Amino acid sequence: MDYDTYGSTAVELAIDLTNADRDAGPDWATAFLRAHDEWFEPGTVVELSPAETGQAATTADLVRAVAVATTQPEVLERLNALLALAHPQPYATDHDGELHLHYARPDAPLMEQLTTTVAMGLSQVVVQHGWQRIGVCSAEGCDDVYVDTSRNASRRYCSNTCASRSTVAAYRARRRT
Ligand SMILES: [Zn+2]
Ligand SMILES: [Zn+2]
Repeated sequence: MDYDTYGSTAVELAIDLTNADRDAGPDWATAFLRAHDEWFEPGTVVELSPAETGQAATTADLVRAVAVATTQPEVLERLNALLALAHPQPYATDHDGELHLHYARPDAPLMEQLTTTVAMGLSQVVVQHGWQRIGVCSAEGCDDVYVDTSRNASRRYCSNTCASRSTVAAYRARRRT
């Protein structure tokens, strides 16, 4: 599977957003956007109001809703709820030195850019590679969302850390019995 396209990096934005730590305080969404400012034209002022931060939470919740869905009708309903918030306007740019497309126009409000990019990136992967590719970590105590880019769609954990932690736990459980 080739994720080396714009769609792939946009799905990573979706995954990062839904995994963002909202307990970090009321500015969590502004902090998230500042850490992902490669999505915005240089000079964009990244500052969200409380209402916009609420919208970011809604977008993050919808991404998670798609990830936890277990049937295709569920996926469709949730993905379309997310897409309904998007206002795609393809825009060619070379702001990082390389010619590429953005899904949102650069002068759109920040939240519109974020939600549009997240919705388009996530739906590209779902329709091109299958909704089973978006999952939730199986490790105990972790509910991070991931995109499965493995060749045979065998991924179950968000990270190597969670995978090895679970392997050790399973080994210990076997030894106990
Ligand atoms: Zn860009
Ligand atoms: Zn995990």
